[in-house]
Amino acid sequence: MASRVRIRRRRITYAEFWAAVCRAPTRALSRSARPSEGEVAYRYRCVLADFLAQGPVYPCWFVDRRGTRFVSYDDRRARAIRVEELAGLKGLLGGRMASWWGPPAAVLFRVDLVVLHCRGCNRRVIIDGVHRVMRLVSAGKLGAVVRVDELSGARWPVGTPDEDVICACSREVRDGSGRGA
Ligand SMILES: [Zn+2]
Repeated sequence: MASRVRIRRRRITYAEFWAAVCRAPTRALSRSARPSEGEVAYRYRCVLADFLAQGPVYPCWFVDRRGTRFVSYDDRRARAIRVEELAGLKGLLGGRMASWWGPPAAVLFRVDLVVLHCRGCNRRVIIDGVHRVMRLVSAGKLGAVVRVDELSGARWPVGTPDEDVICACSREVRDGSGRGA
């Protein structure tokens, strides 16, 4: 679905993207993942509301079918949950946020994010900055500024951590066998 939000993105090299990953504290396994087709990296900044309006955005946190507990991306029960939906699961989210010592929403005005994007299904997964985004969304503070380093691809291979749960492209497309000659 086409986005109505226009955000000026600056193309960066993969090396610049990787430098941003290394500066971030993320330990997500997908931090070193790369798409198999159409790789482009971008850097941009916008307000959180516009970032979320580009298309579905997911944290690299996964929940079971009933949304009662967090599970690993490679757990067969794992399902992707949009940040807005997760913000609504206050009991589940509260447990995780209680052990995070980051700043309260009141003093959070700017957040750095590392993001993977699939152009096939226009879904994004935040692999660094999830706690901060969840705190802002929970507080309804969507005017905060996000600075995004994003690795985008037309196709993410089957077996890519996080993308395996989040990407909605068909398996044939993802493993390349469904491409026409
Ligand atoms: Zn996809």
